[in-house]
Amino acid sequence: VTDLSSFRIDNRYVKLPKHFFSHVQPTPLKAPKMVCFNDELAREMGIDPGEKEDWTRVGAGQELLEGMEPIAMKYTGHQFGMYNPDLGDGRGLLLWESYGPDGRHWDWHLKGAGMTPYSRFGDGRAVLRSTLREYLCSEAMHHLGIPTTRALFMITAKDPVMRESIETAAALMRVAQTHIRFGHFEYAAYHQGPEAVKTLLDHTIEMHFPELLEVPESERYVRWLEDVVSRTARLIAQWQGVGFCHGVMNSDNMSIIGDTFDYGPYAFLDDFDAGYICNHTDQGGRYAYNQQPQIGFTNCQLLAQSLTNIMDEDDLRRALRRYETVYNSSFQQVMMKKLGLEQQGEEDMSLIMDLFSMLHENHIDYTLFFRGLSTRHTRGNAPVRDLFVDRSVADRWLERYEERLASENRDPAERDAAMCATNPKYILRNYLAQEAIQDAQQGIYQTAHKLLDVLKRPYDEQPDNEHYAALPPDWGKHMQISCSS
Ligand code: AMP
Ligand code: MG
Ligand code: MG
Repeated sequence: VTDLSSFRIDNRYVKLPKHFFSHVQPTPLKAPKMVCFNDELAREMGIDPGEKEDWTRVGAGQELLEGMEPIAMKYTGHQFGMYNPDLGDGRGLLLWESYGPDGRHWDWHLKGAGMTPYSRFGDGRAVLRSTLREYLCSEAMHHLGIPTTRALFMITAKDPVMRESIETAAALMRVAQTHIRFGHFEYAAYHQGPEAVKTLLDHTIEMHFPELLEVPESERYVRWLEDVVSRTARLIAQWQGVGFCHGVMNSDNMSIIGDTFDYGPYAFLDDFDAGYICNHTDQGGRYAYNQQPQIGFTNCQLLAQSLTNIMDEDDLRRALRRYETVYNSSFQQVMMKKLGLEQQGEEDMSLIMDLFSMLHENHIDYTLFFRGLSTRHTRGNAPVRDLFVDRSVADRWLERYEERLASENRDPAERDAAMCATNPKYILRNYLAQEAIQDAQQGIYQTAHKLLDVLKRPYDEQPDNEHYAALPPDWGKHMQISCSS
């Protein structure tokens, strides 16, 4: 197989105590096909993208490379507020850990690799539909500049997989600096005790927060928790800014390094709806768009709770207090950038809040609104006004905005450029993902590849691809996606 000379393997997670994982061999899939391969990412990781076909058998679980030690990680977590002790990698395996030419650490997780001791009632498989959705969105998020797991490649196979109907099997090579979740700590605390929590925490710090090794031991854990809490708050502020709805913010889907993690029924907002629920099974709207900041905090509390036996309660509280401060300042920063404001003004928060009310009440497309606002120097107010049935509503807000801009001494052309670099033109609208899936299910992958190309440059004007920025067709609005994947 492929030349791996420019990368180094060092499987560290398997050196943890045995209860943290199970050794599991992948269950092979039949007649696999490589359907998406991330050349750019492969290069970053030290893999030759010219040899992509070599990875097909690995993706199908038909072959392990020398050095791979596949395991299913054990974790638990709170799902929709209820503790579930039986979780763990139910269909994904950590194959190995590599270091790229730039020294970056990568976990290789093959999602859809077959059953594990943590599969519960599941079959260990992933279907084409959900695998492609994860591939598309994790790459879209990365190119938007939002921390996320990545997609290295995906394969499909001949094996039928039973969901509501029979579907095509697929597998995704998901890579990330780490796959450790909040739920790993919950597992250690509730089932193994303080020593296990400490072991996991020391491992996490050594591998993923090495700068904290310089901090005196008495302060190290609290500094770490502050960092995790801050990263989580910043991540969710970024989600809110771009209109991303995760859909399943269970504590087992929260990455310990603050990556966007586990793409299921996610959605980007089309027209702005503060209470938007993208997950068909989330009847109560626990994970609605406007609940995400609060749920992020709840999850940090769950993480803190699992540290009660190894940390001081005051320290835990101190670290948790960071959430609100960091969230508020990050969100404000995100919004100021979206509006092209450099100086802070007293009325800014009310300008922003009134903006959200206006978008909500008038069902205005979130992405097109901000992009329209970013081209006012060359195109005037029309792109924004034209989104409104009642243009006078837009005019009233735009007037206030115009006044506010007068107190900034920034060149308007420069402001437009800065705003275009922060307000994407191209996002992964649900209907675009749906079109890519429909074609993929017919064996046609150009649609997905082309879409990925567009999403690589979300902030650029792409004159040939204008239609990817258009409002969704009627069938593609307010789509709710089920958890079944
Ligand atoms: P999620 O809702 O994606 O966060 O998944 C929750 C849990 O269900 C995780 O432990 C997954 O590994 C497991 N799971 C999801 N789908 C399957 C499947 N088809 N087979 C086995 N386990 C699964
Ligand atoms: Mg999950
Ligand atoms: Mg999932």
